[in-house]
Amino acid sequence: MTEKEYFNKSEQKKLPARCPILDYCTRRAYTLYFLGGYTGGQKKSVIKILQENDTLKEDFEENAIELSGEVPEFLNGKNFKEYANFCPEVNLFDSVAFNQARGTASISGEWEDSRKIQFENKKYRHYSECAEFSKHHYQKVPLKKSPPKRRIGISQKLRFEIFQRDNFTCQYCGKSREDDNIKLELDHIMPVSAGGTDDYHNLITSCKKCNQGKSNKVIKKGSR
Ligand SMILES: [Zn+2]
Repeated sequence: MTEKEYFNKSEQKKLPARCPILDYCTRRAYTLYFLGGYTGGQKKSVIKILQENDTLKEDFEENAIELSGEVPEFLNGKNFKEYANFCPEVNLFDSVAFNQARGTASISGEWEDSRKIQFENKKYRHYSECAEFSKHHYQKVPLKKSPPKRRIGISQKLRFEIFQRDNFTCQYCGKSREDDNIKLELDHIMPVSAGGTDDYHNLITSCKKCNQGKSNKVIKKGSR
């Protein structure tokens, strides 16, 4: 099955052009592993190896769609290669595709030197025929994606409490609103980008100047 035939099939079935679960599908992961020329993987560490090579997403394991049905197999001998039950998308779309099957939705094939079988693709498949897709699609199992952190913002009340706690004084340079006529701001001790929260204990009073000069801020000893 070629790319065009594959997309036609998706369209006929009113499904997305490409497999919607491919990022988290264990069958695809194993296929990538076999065809990617990786070595040393035990069942468990195959995923890790692929993650280290940026082939799989970091949250693969939390969301992994387990193998259903036949197990992907790859035999790689001196004079032969044989594979079965692969993800149809890998040979069709991925750069690691098996040379002779590249550009086809081949899931099984063999190559043997001694019997002069150059290469034979045995079976083609559309993702909708994969057990993993069917199971996922019909059972509607949601992916366990962690929801994005929602920022509610800092209330005026909390803002005032922090300024009051810090005596309306910049905790970096020691200038105060009263004496130095500066504008006070709130700063995150642990930056939001590093997972810091809008919590009372993660907020600190800063003047505008110190807040902008992010790099070498040191909280003055004893000022808190
Ligand atoms: Zn300051």
